[in-house]
Amino acid sequence: MRQTFPDVGRIPFGGGPPGSVPDAEGRRESTLALLESAAAVVRDGVVDSLLESAAVGIAACDRELRFTHWNRFLAELTGLASPEVVGRGVLEVFPRLVPAGLEALRRALAGEAAVAHDTEYALPRTGRRGWVSAQYLPLRGADGEVAGVVGVVADVTERKRAEEESRRLAAFSRENPNPVLECDRAGRVTYANPATGHHLAEVGCELEGFLPAGHDHLVRTALATGQVLRTIEVVVDDRIFSWTYHPHPPLGVVHLFADDITARRAVEEQLRHDALHDALTGLPNRYLFMERLARSVLHEKRRERYLFAVLFLDLDRFKVVNDGLGHHVGDELLIAVAARLRGCVRETDTVARFGGDEFAVLLDDIGSVEVALRAAERLQHELTAPVALSGYEVFTSASIGIALSSEAYGRPEYLLRNADMAMYRAKGAGGARYEIFDRAMHALALTRLQMETDLRRGVDRGEFTLHYQPIVSLRTGRIAGAEALLRWQHPERGWIAPVDFVSTAEETGLILLLGRGVIRHACEQLQAWRRTAPRAVGMHVSVNLSVKQFSQADLVEQVRGALADTGEDPRLLRLEVTESVIVENVEAAASTLGRLKALGVQVYMDDFGTGYSSLSSLHRLPLDALKVDRSFVARLGVEPEAAQLVRTVATLAHNLELAVIAEGVETAAQLEELRALGCEFAQGFFFSPPLDPERMRALLEEDPCW
Ligand code: C2E
Ligand code: CA
Ligand code: CA
Repeated sequence: MRQTFPDVGRIPFGGGPPGSVPDAEGRRESTLALLESAAAVVRDGVVDSLLESAAVGIAACDRELRFTHWNRFLAELTGLASPEVVGRGVLEVFPRLVPAGLEALRRALAGEAAVAHDTEYALPRTGRRGWVSAQYLPLRGADGEVAGVVGVVADVTERKRAEEESRRLAAFSRENPNPVLECDRAGRVTYANPATGHHLAEVGCELEGFLPAGHDHLVRTALATGQVLRTIEVVVDDRIFSWTYHPHPPLGVVHLFADDITARRAVEEQLRHDALHDALTGLPNRYLFMERLARSVLHEKRRERYLFAVLFLDLDRFKVVNDGLGHHVGDELLIAVAARLRGCVRETDTVARFGGDEFAVLLDDIGSVEVALRAAERLQHELTAPVALSGYEVFTSASIGIALSSEAYGRPEYLLRNADMAMYRAKGAGGARYEIFDRAMHALALTRLQMETDLRRGVDRGEFTLHYQPIVSLRTGRIAGAEALLRWQHPERGWIAPVDFVSTAEETGLILLLGRGVIRHACEQLQAWRRTAPRAVGMHVSVNLSVKQFSQADLVEQVRGALADTGEDPRLLRLEVTESVIVENVEAAASTLGRLKALGVQVYMDDFGTGYSSLSSLHRLPLDALKVDRSFVARLGVEPEAAQLVRTVATLAHNLELAVIAEGVETAAQLEELRALGCEFAQGFFFSPPLDPERMRALLEEDPCW
């Protein structure tokens, strides 16, 4: 630690004990006057109530040092009553009278006045210890000769104790590395220990900037109340002190002790900082952001035409970097992004990290909406430049949602929610863009919320049924199977198609509940048809599995359970999964598919060609068929390349010994082309739309051939 207070040395702790010096002379004079009047009283033989009621001890003795007077004060102080003392010798009563006392008595007998001495005593009866100060005066008879001695005794225990305490304090103070001061009643400094150093030019000076504000008042209050007072912080140079005022009313002084709390404050400051900032990037965290946001919202209420914006920012594909290149590269990317964001906005704006790859920006006092839009563009532009990280060059982009204070309705959390909502919209539109929150978006969110409620109720009330779309064998031209497709009979809105509810069902997890039912129902339906339609024998049924369902730990168990409970032949059940199930983890997907296949069921890759191209990992997956997405089928006969593409997929599938199923066949021409390209199966409106179970049964009975 830096030596802030060099030893000044030249400031002593007063001439004598602190506090006693200024009063000593005055006290001696008044005592002398008292002593003289006491002597007069005794000499005149007027031992009356005056002497008895004195607030000091008054005693007298004759030339032989035998007590002739002993007043009440002394009786109370010593516990010795007047009759026990008067008539007895001084040394008889006080056998252990100190030599100084004896000497003083002798000098008084010799005619010398006002000889004082302080004596520490221990009373024989009470055992009380204390201090008295005794002063003597010769007592002269009518002839002028010394006839005895009159003594005045004061109880100075309190003062002695205070002085003793001061002496000890002085010793400690000299060694104290923290500043220690003594002040008199007026607040003037009468002592300063070496640690106060250059702040004190000389004792009694004003110590400007060193003493706490309201110092005089503190001194007075401490002395008046006898209470120890503590100040809040006083900053001196770059250090922070807290002062304690210890009053000593008997001495009329106050001792001030300074606590150097600089280090403690630094620790507290650090803790506070850590609590409000993100450890990785050093940016403010959500708490601090919300605090500032709340402040801006308050500000907005008070000021006309004050506009600010919240940007919610989420990196696109951060997961790919983090999982693919490792967490340390992910961390580096976040740090780099944080720095770029910070560099893009004004000093007065707040850039915060909310955790993960989520950031928020508070653009304060923007004047117009355009400023927020330009800022979003700037942020986006900054982020598109490649980031060099541990030998990798990483490209990143962000989806940004913007919410304006004018839509805040006075609530910071609404603003954040709005920005978040807009961000999701930007992400949903493909990322690397920004969206501004508007009320329509809010309405949409409300609709989603309503949808969620309705979905739950629908599941409870059994409003969901399955429709079936025939899958036709292009070899025989006959129905080979059917795909089960969910339908929702909403009590107010009528039939609702899966596009309108499957994503919400996935987000809320309700798809898991729905999905279980679908597998079971499809198996039961197959058995029902077999009982009524001969054509249904050997027919298979396809069920769609969402990614959420696919990653359930007990999926295989669920399928096994459904098969066991319904007694359905596993070979007739087909599960359709999309390419998205393998995006996360090819090995895990392959393992799950393998276990499903081990049950005897077949697995199809649905919507092939639309997802993350999995051509390279296709051979690692134990599949039975590829379903060519209907977008390719729709282009057949329109774009020449479409046929080439379907041919490539078919060739690839056949090489891997997979069957090819074409989806969305709507025309005879498409059917012909697909046949020519070697597709095994097809489905689509050309054959039949999805049908309810009864109409499907009728179609099976009809046994059409294409
Ligand atoms: P998908 O698995 O690709 O199902 C085929 C969709 O194409 C069905 O839409 C069907 O009605 C439609 N379609 C069939 N033929 C044609 C055609 O010739 N032209 C056109 N334009 N469309 C045709 P749907 O029933 O609306 O289902 C949409 C999606 O919802 C399904 O796509 C599937 O991904 C999902 N889905 C349906 N049922 C379930 C289910 O039980 N579970 C899960 N997880 N998803 C389901
Ligand atoms: Ca499907
Ligand atoms: Ca499909």
